[in-house]
Amino acid sequence: MKKFLKKMVIGLTAAMMTLSLAACGGSKDEGTAAKDDSAEQAGGEKLVFGTNAEFPPFEFVAGSGTIDQYDGIDIAIAKQIGTDIGKEATINNMEFDSLLIALQNGQIDAVIAGMTVTDERKEAVDFSTPYYTATQVMIVKEDSDVTKASDIADKKIVVIQGYTGETVVKEMGYKYEAFKKGSDAIMELVNGKCDVVVIDSATADKYVKDNAGLKIVEDNAAFGEEKYAIAVKKGNTELLDQINSSIQKMLDDGTISDLSAKYLDVETEE
Ligand code: GLN
Repeated sequence: MKKFLKKMVIGLTAAMMTLSLAACGGSKDEGTAAKDDSAEQAGGEKLVFGTNAEFPPFEFVAGSGTIDQYDGIDIAIAKQIGTDIGKEATINNMEFDSLLIALQNGQIDAVIAGMTVTDERKEAVDFSTPYYTATQVMIVKEDSDVTKASDIADKKIVVIQGYTGETVVKEMGYKYEAFKKGSDAIMELVNGKCDVVVIDSATADKYVKDNAGLKIVEDNAAFGEEKYAIAVKKGNTELLDQINSSIQKMLDDGTISDLSAKYLDVETEE
């Protein structure tokens, strides 16, 4: 009887442990992380920005960044928004394709990721006042004969998965390969394994500056203007209003153009 009771207690304890672990997210590690990060969850005392830190000069991983190890135009903007709102801005770095889902799930408060406002994305989230104007450009080797978008029809094209560059090339009806990281796409070009990378203008400038033997080809007739904005969960007007007034202030006082100039010159680690 005593033995039976002891067994039952052990059994119950094990069951309770399993239950509490499951409640914390399934594994011991995740459970601990969830507990430690409780202050960093969306809607909490901190302002949690989601980004994909693979997009210099907007966001990249640095030795010592503006927020933790993250640096760039967007990261500096995020920090200032936090200051203006009176909350500490934190960064949750994830895949670009996961950002809008994370926002909808309430895992993050806002997305700042050089993200272009598109009609499709507008169906899923609300966008702030735009803070940057960009366009898609083509990066090619210096000796390339490409001078306009239609010249790449039969070339080996590389885009970044989920970026507007992919959408644009797809709409042109050209075949392409999609990479997960811009830096990998550039390596493919540098190594002569593809002919052209289609990517956002400021990021292209940065890559061409940092890698010898490349040049940019623009085609404003083929690639339209894109506006970068911050995304919040649909209906989160309180946060959107706060973000908008902070952005407006940074546009008016020149903070954003200063940051753009500064980060185009900063060496990023590749
Ligand atoms: N502007 C592009 C887009 O919105 C790329 C953004 C990014 O890679 N961070 O798809």
